[in-house]
Amino acid sequence: MENRLLNPQLLKAQAYHVQDASGMLKLDAMESPYSIPESIKATWLEKISSASLNRYPDPQCEDIRTQIIKDHNLAEDYDVMFGNGSDEIIQILIQAIAQDAGPIMSVNPSFVMYDLVSTLNQRDYVSVDLDQQFCLDEKKWFAQIQEKKPALIFIAYPNNPSGNLFPRALIEKTIEKAPGLVVIDEAYALYSHDSFLEDVAKHPNLLVLRTVSKMGLAGLRFGLLFGHKRWINQFNKLRLPYNINCLTQVSMAYFWQQRALFSEQAKEIISEREKVSQQLSQLSGVTVYPSQANFILLRLENTLKSATDVFNALKEKGILIKNMDKPKGHSLHQCLRVTISNPQENNVLLSAMKQILESN
Ligand SMILES: *Cc1c(COP(=O)(O)O)cnc(C)c1O
Repeated sequence: MENRLLNPQLLKAQAYHVQDASGMLKLDAMESPYSIPESIKATWLEKISSASLNRYPDPQCEDIRTQIIKDHNLAEDYDVMFGNGSDEIIQILIQAIAQDAGPIMSVNPSFVMYDLVSTLNQRDYVSVDLDQQFCLDEKKWFAQIQEKKPALIFIAYPNNPSGNLFPRALIEKTIEKAPGLVVIDEAYALYSHDSFLEDVAKHPNLLVLRTVSKMGLAGLRFGLLFGHKRWINQFNKLRLPYNINCLTQVSMAYFWQQRALFSEQAKEIISEREKVSQQLSQLSGVTVYPSQANFILLRLENTLKSATDVFNALKEKGILIKNMDKPKGHSLHQCLRVTISNPQENNVLLSAMKQILESN
């Protein structure tokens, strides 16, 4: 009976798979290794304990919204909308697009939700393949934009899973040439040296997406979309009224004021990223791709062990990373993605990698 009743794309789809990580050193999901800084924990708990759980939360998150608008100096015509993670915002964006307005577009490989949510919502999804260095061929990209006329383009900046930033000029040209909306997904903004947030006011079709997940607050589920009110006002109609629960609202209002602490933590991760990249690239047969995020992508070539062998060997040692391996010819062939953690956990990973790759 489900074949008759349910969306055919849903019947075909695979559920989003999350690896079982119980008891593992978790380096698979770009989480921060740090829990709430001790210096602010007591105050945070006080705030939480006074939250009114018997009441519906503020549907507009007015406290946080006003504060964020002020701190980012958003001009009068601009606004920010919050989602239950940026995943929810991606869903709202895709659902807002008219069926006949053109496909949703991104690059391949990129963040899986763009494709997954488009497909489940019965929207056409097209992507342009990156090359073996995860660069975007400009000619191919603009030819596709011209031919497919996408209604909505997602660019993860930095890109997940490759960790790189596409050239700023290429993105600026994309914003200019796109016949529809361009969303720059800056999930890793805290680890990156560049951002398009300041550009939002210059381009009427540009939106910038952020999240607190990769900076140590993944459990709160809180994403942010910045853009012109002409878009945000419409998206707000699709957003379910109480999508941000009251514990998240109370927590975010406080953590936003304490955000300097999270930037400090990010600095340590960035310096660890450079250390881990440098040390892994010294292992023979390992290519490390440059990253502006809190993870790195590696490729194994001419090693006795395949990416899957290394992934399994790490798992045996209690270390969980992400196996990105795809068949030969795909840009992710023999690739692994590793989340950068604190010095102690990174050292565990480094010595395990050395052991695995240097033994036969
Ligand atoms: C992790 C990630 C997200 C998802 O963020 P949530 O706010 O946790 O839903 C969005 N975009 C990219 C590129 C990501 O890597």
